[in-house]
Amino acid sequence: MPPIAKKYGRVPLPFIETNHVRPLSIWTALLNRNYVRPELRAITYAVGDEMNRKYPGTVINYMDANFPFRDGFPLLPHISHNDGRKLDVAFHYIDKATGKRSNGNPSPIGYGGSEPPRKGEPDRPSRCTSNWQYSYMYGWMPLSDRLAFDQARTQDMINAFIKQKGIKTLYLEPHLKKRLHLTSKKIRLHACYSVRHDDHVHVQL
Ligand SMILES: [Zn+2]
Repeated sequence: MPPIAKKYGRVPLPFIETNHVRPLSIWTALLNRNYVRPELRAITYAVGDEMNRKYPGTVINYMDANFPFRDGFPLLPHISHNDGRKLDVAFHYIDKATGKRSNGNPSPIGYGGSEPPRKGEPDRPSRCTSNWQYSYMYGWMPLSDRLAFDQARTQDMINAFIKQKGIKTLYLEPHLKKRLHLTSKKIRLHACYSVRHDDHVHVQL
């Protein structure tokens, strides 16, 4: 672990699967984008354990976390990922051909594999169109069409994070909050100068 990470109270999330947690893309870890506060790592491991009791073999795929540097050093393009308290986590999917649970993701980096609003659902992405970055990963990322969104398992994972006392805030698009029947006040509405949250859930201490 780089001494600088220790100095700023951050620990790395694992390079390879450990306690049912791994990076969705190895580049996240290779580029040092995988640092969090020790409490957030412990929570992520606890969620991995809980998910495996219900769905054996499930892996929590983490996406961008934070750099190991001092507080306030942002992990672009996620301006708020600057203090070790923030983590993006991938959704779960089902292999369409076999109908079995998969640990894969339609997008090679997780971002861009959106579950967009359906007719009749709240549609925040269409209200944030004047902010270019809101949907900037959407619509061009090469996506696998072999996977379908696993609603039940994603709902359980988000609820497992919500249940953790240390987690104070989550960001998720309103249409998925509604579709997954999530009612916790911990799920807050992110600003249009953020990015869309229908390809991952953001959790923070
Ligand atoms: Zn985030």
